[in-house]
Amino acid sequence: MHWSPGRKWHDAQLSRLGPRPMHPGTVALHYGQVVFEGLKAYRLADGRVGVFRVDAHAQRFCRSAERIGMPPVPTELFCAAVRRLVRADERRVPDDERLSLYLRPLLFARDESLALRPADEYEFLVMAFVTEDFFGTVRRAVTVWIDEQYSRAAPRGTGAVKYAGNYAAAYQADRAAAENGCDQVVWLDAVERRWVEELGAMNIFFVRGTGSRARIVTPPLTGTILPGITRDCVLTLGTRLGYVVEEAPVSVEEWTSCCRSGEITETFATGTAAGVCPVGEIRSSRGAVTVGDGQGGPVAAALAEQLRRYQRGLADDLPWVSVVPRSL
Ligand code: PMP
Repeated sequence: MHWSPGRKWHDAQLSRLGPRPMHPGTVALHYGQVVFEGLKAYRLADGRVGVFRVDAHAQRFCRSAERIGMPPVPTELFCAAVRRLVRADERRVPDDERLSLYLRPLLFARDESLALRPADEYEFLVMAFVTEDFFGTVRRAVTVWIDEQYSRAAPRGTGAVKYAGNYAAAYQADRAAAENGCDQVVWLDAVERRWVEELGAMNIFFVRGTGSRARIVTPPLTGTILPGITRDCVLTLGTRLGYVVEEAPVSVEEWTSCCRSGEITETFATGTAAGVCPVGEIRSSRGAVTVGDGQGGPVAAALAEQLRRYQRGLADDLPWVSVVPRSL
């Protein structure tokens, strides 16, 4: 679908995914005027297909577009585009529990111009890919790398939206993590470099205490953290499971020392691609700390299971799944 100042959004089309020509002077390639989303469609327990939290993704997509000076895609248009694609691809949505249809909406500046100003023409499209859970079929706790050298998002910058350029910060940081035998990088705040903000492309949670006294803590959304939709689900599901859930800053010193003392019993991260992902070990130049028994704990497991039930339509008392009618 295209946007131009006169016609606004127009020309919605469904086409096969494949290479397409692009002028080398396209604004998006030079100044990165690009935002995107990531959401999933699942095969529901009753055989139908449901898109998970499409409205929340549509709203975040609007906020992202507005922050980067682009015309927002109205929520109804976004949802209609997603529904149309999923309906056309309905048979590709796998029955296998470990698989889903990952949807990638993208909005980019289409003009051919080297002028550094918001473009005049935009394109919005949605792609679909069958995917496995990000961390594979065997759920295991990940090892994470703290490196004070890298920050993902600066105050008053673009960190709170899904702006493509935000992800460039990860290339070197991910390499450093991999060189130190780690799966993911821990993002600290850009100013004091001591507050834990995110983990890779996921939100982070800490569990203090055990059993019915366990409390779930996640850093507050102060503008440099992406308001994850899985984060929002976990805040709701955590409360429903009877845990105390709170948003509070956690420093690296507090995180590591409380893991050593056993006061923090679990750490996990959340995202559309990964679901709920337990952290087993924290590494930095100062050494390694094991979280709990290093295998992930019961709170993360309970939340992962609850989330799965909603994604698969086994629980439906929250309006999170939009059922897509069967294709003919
Ligand atoms: N933080 C960042 C930086 C991300 O890219 C993502 C993935 N969208 C998340 C957190 C998790 O967000 P969500 O749960 O909406 O996928």
